[in-house]
Amino acid sequence: MSVAILGSLIRTALPGVGRWCLGYALLAAASTWVVVSGPRAGGITIVGASIATLSAVVLLVQGTRQFFGERAVWVAESAALVAICAAIVYFTWVSPNVDARGVLMSLGLIYGRLAVGTLALRHASRDGTRYACWLIAVAAGTGALVYVARIGAIVFGAAPSLSFVQPSPWNVALLGLAILTSPCVAIGMVMLAHDRLLGRMEKLATIDELTGALTRRAFIARAQVLLSQAREKGDPLSIAILDIDNFKAINDGFGHAVGDRILTHVASVVAGQLRSCDLFGRLGGEEFAILFAYAQKHDAATLTNTLRLAVERSSAEGVRCTLSAGVGKFVPADTLESAMVRADAALYVAKAAGRNRVIMTSDAEEGEARYLAESR
Ligand code: GH3
Ligand code: MG
Ligand code: MG
Repeated sequence: MSVAILGSLIRTALPGVGRWCLGYALLAAASTWVVVSGPRAGGITIVGASIATLSAVVLLVQGTRQFFGERAVWVAESAALVAICAAIVYFTWVSPNVDARGVLMSLGLIYGRLAVGTLALRHASRDGTRYACWLIAVAAGTGALVYVARIGAIVFGAAPSLSFVQPSPWNVALLGLAILTSPCVAIGMVMLAHDRLLGRMEKLATIDELTGALTRRAFIARAQVLLSQAREKGDPLSIAILDIDNFKAINDGFGHAVGDRILTHVASVVAGQLRSCDLFGRLGGEEFAILFAYAQKHDAATLTNTLRLAVERSSAEGVRCTLSAGVGKFVPADTLESAMVRADAALYVAKAAGRNRVIMTSDAEEGEARYLAESR
């Protein structure tokens, strides 16, 4: 089941999922091999299934590291894998010892579960994946305890000559728990993959790829929330509409690709100067909007002028550009749209007056907006 579900996620090309899938496929193959061979499994089965299981453990750990973007630990883990496999070969054919094999296998499985569990715990606070990470950590931790108990049982003689397939009460209890925790870890991995995909889709829908600003839709949605909060608390709120000057000429003169990089550059200069409480969105083309929280119109205009100067003084690919802006405040009766219309009209005035400037909406216009709303 784990292989089937993880396999359905391979086409998403999420890092680590391929290794998780291969790891669970190896585990399934090893278990099937052991079960089909029955209690009188020969040396080939024991060694083959053990190597497959331990390789699966390494793949699951490596997959988890890859998923979380951590560096691989190929050399140490491969060396440990080879050493344990060699020891299992030794305790199967040279000096047969079921207990020694049980301890070695348990050590490998404990390492795998602790490694996956601690990786999940370390990343539990990121990307809203807390729930999936905790599921993996608890399931893997419980699984590790099962194998610690197995080693204890072997070392202290509670279950002498413990073989993987003997139906002793110990084995039934331990294998039962191990069987329960293993798919729980796989379910946690599937949940992690889904959370990651959801995060990607949310990002695609809210962040403009070229400029890193909010998309128009996300800007408007978040601005509506800020507007109603500001209205409830009576906080001042202002808005600026920015437009790069003569951008068509830049595109025509230097090419669309350079135009794209200038757009990215201007957006990063602007975003770098904003306060964390401000909203910055790309309305379309080379037009942006900024919602200044807790800002009176004059403060917003001053901030916008600082942005204008920063853009004017900077250059990308040796090309300098300027921007014009219209800035207005929200009056109590305003909708987001009505305030944006006034700021847009001020931007038009800035363009008509020669560009590279910031123009505020007039108090009279805002008074008129309030009057129109009150007399409705
Ligand atoms: P103004 O100063 O009046 O704003 O003049 P302008 O040339 O900037 O205005 P206009 O609206 O005529 O041109 C905007 C140009 O922006 C036209 C369009 O090709 C370009 N544009 C829109 N989106 C993109 C984009 O994503 N990348 C690039 N390179 N150009 C874009
Ligand atoms: Mg323009
Ligand atoms: Mg424009």
